[in-house]
Amino acid sequence: MNTSISVLLEHKGRATVSVSPLVTVSQAAQEMNRRKVGSVLVMEGGQLLGIFTERDVLWRVVAAGLDPKTTPLSQVMTRNPITVGPDTPIQSVMDVFTEKRFRHLPVVDDGRLLGVISIGDVLRWAADVHRQEAEQLKQYITGGYPS
Ligand code: AMP
Repeated sequence: MNTSISVLLEHKGRATVSVSPLVTVSQAAQEMNRRKVGSVLVMEGGQLLGIFTERDVLWRVVAAGLDPKTTPLSQVMTRNPITVGPDTPIQSVMDVFTEKRFRHLPVVDDGRLLGVISIGDVLRWAADVHRQEAEQLKQYITGGYPS
């Protein structure tokens, strides 16, 4: 878990789903469904302006009684999202998810967007690492001692 988040990013791919602040909630939701993701980054002129996630659809749109067909993302997104740099250890990213209680973190280097890490990406990574460690231990135990 000391591995930096850039290694995980290489592993899962750097593709991000981004939209303009002018698109409607309905359009953003369609894009999220099409790309099978739980968040979109709201970008303007190459700058990260905000983040909009499926939780926002529930809390800020449905529960607030807003019309998804006419509400622009600029009205319901989270502005200035918390980001991490590419050298951040995976453990620290897990800590941010736990402390801040959200599930998406844009990875930014010097103002440049490198990708997005979700809590699901980190859990998959941790499961893979544990599986590999268990396999190595098994081989060590079964192959390490002559019978
Ligand atoms: P999530 O659990 O990621 O679906 O998001 C829960 C809430 O936190 C929503 O209001 C999001 O807009 C917000 N949120 C998600 N990611 C971030 C982030 N990196 N920085 C700040 N707020 C965020």
